[in-house]
Parts: sequence; C-alpha cells; structure tokens
Amino acid sequence: MIPADNNLVFRPENINTSSESCISIILRNQEFLTSKASEVLLFEDDDLKWSEMEFSHRHFLGYLNNRPCFVRCLKDSSPTAQDTILSPLRSLLGRIPDTLFTIFSRSLQIDNWYISNQFCGTCGKAVKPHETERAMICECMNKLIYPTISPCIIVLVTNGEELLLAHNKNFPGEFYSTLAGFIEPGESAESAIEREVFEEVSVTVKNITYYGSQSWPFPSQLMLGYHAEYDEGIISPDGVEIDKAGWFNFRDLPQVPTGNISISGKLIESYIEKLTG
Ligand SMILES: [Zn+2]
Repeated sequence: MIPADNNLVFRPENINTSSESCISIILRNQEFLTSKASEVLLFEDDDLKWSEMEFSHRHFLGYLNNRPCFVRCLKDSSPTAQDTILSPLRSLLGRIPDTLFTIFSRSLQIDNWYISNQFCGTCGKAVKPHETERAMICECMNKLIYPTISPCIIVLVTNGEELLLAHNKNFPGEFYSTLAGFIEPGESAESAIEREVFEEVSVTVKNITYYGSQSWPFPSQLMLGYHAEYDEGIISPDGVEIDKAGWFNFRDLPQVPTGNISISGKLIESYIEKLTG
C-alpha cells in the first residue's frame, strides 16, 4: 500500500508510457474500496496479486508520484480484500486530500462514460476504445465519442453585508447554499447566471466576477463559481427547485457548506474574508 497522505502529486494523462510499477484504486458500482474507517487505499501490484479480487476492466488515469495510476473495476461477483468496505465518494468529501478527490472524481466520470458508451449512437454498432486518445471509436465515419462534462454555474449573490442563500427542496433541514444551475446550449456562463438567478429567486444581478471552478462528479458537472452583486427585485423562490430563499447577514448565517467540501462554501468564505479582511 502507498500512504494516502498530503504528499501525493497527480498528473492526469490518457495513455500510459511508463514502465514503473502501478498504483491502483478500486471501484465497484460508484463506490471506492476503503479501509473500514473510510481511509483511502492505494494498492501496489503485489497487494492485488494475493487479494483474490477479480476485475472486469481498468482505466489509466495518469501519474501519481510519477507512477502509472489506474482505477480497477471490481467484478460484481468478486470478493473484496480483507478489512475493507466500499464507500461512496460523497461520504469521503472533505475527509480526503484534494489530490485524491481529483483522482476519484476522474475515475468515476471516466468509468461512467465508458460503461454508458459501448454502442454508437449513429449506427448502433459496438464501439471500441481509441488507441491513442481517451475516446471510443466507431468504424462508421470514424466517429469519436469523448467523455462529456456538463458545465454549471454556481453563484453567490451579495448586497453589502447580506448574502443571498437558498434552500433547495432536496436539502436536509435548514441547510442553505448558493444558487446553481446548468448552462444551456448556446449560453455564456454570465448569461446563465442572470437567467438562473432570475428563474430561481426573481432578482437581477450585476458585476459578475469569476472566482474558480470545481469538478463535481455527481454525475459529471464542472462547477464554475462566481460572485455577483444584487441589482433589483424582491426575492421570490420559484417553489420548484427552491422552496425558501432570503438575505442573510454574514454574521448570522444558517447552516451552509464548508469550503473544504464544495466551491459553494469557498464562495461564501472568500466573500466574508473580503468583508472582514
Ligand atoms: Zn457508428
């Protein structure tokens, strides 16, 4: 085993050209093999040799500490290694180093793409992996099928010391967050922000500024984070996605996400730092 600590360096790649020995993580049905205490397990080839675990396929992810790193997909019928459990990635959020989150997020999205793209959408025939690219290829018209990422905007709307936070119908209890939504075909990120904020809470915004992004593999979003200033309107939740929304003073916030878990938390924390700093 390799220690799953903060000293790991990951470089994504699509084709392995290294002869170094491999490091593997293990996935089955959207869940990763961890210790019983949910610690990440990074397997060496020797660990796997004696484990009796059987795999259906694997994907090259890139280089971890300059060694080839793979996700291996465990067969449904395979036993799991001793003293391990399968953990959903959501349960590991905020508890694992960012480098490992990147690797897990990449694994989930690549495997989801792979298992749902076994046939060509144009001619219906079976496709196969491309030899030099991360793509499936069909012989009809040499069609390539690449992994798909869905861009979303996530925005913290502010008015001085007040933060606009919303409660999604699916959120537990009194948990509030920033507004978010998918970017529609043909839209810019900025116009998606204006549209989503107006659709969800009926206010308009101005002075939109980019903050940063986060891969969010549930199932394949790229969250583009922004700050925006309130312009006009009275908050009125749409009642469909958002059942409650309001202005909250930064000194008296409801339960919100933390910055170590999501970009929503980072947007909130960075704005408060700006106010108080
Ligand atoms: Zn085809």
